[in-house]
Amino acid sequence: MVTKTKSGFLKVKCECGNEQNMFGKSAMEVSCNGCGKTIGQPTGGKTAISAEIVETF
Ligand SMILES: [Zn+2]
Repeated sequence: MVTKTKSGFLKVKCECGNEQNMFGKSAMEVSCNGCGKTIGQPTGGKTAISAEIVETF
């Protein structure tokens, strides 16, 4: 599952169970703090999220 976001902060839940906050427009790859998997990739201003989005701020 890949979800593209527009903006703001997100709380995401990785498939390993780790939850963490991240910026929805990150210019860098975002890795899970629990398992190290890449859960966010920059795609031209937006971020492609490959984790479950629990909450947006
Ligand atoms: Zn993980």
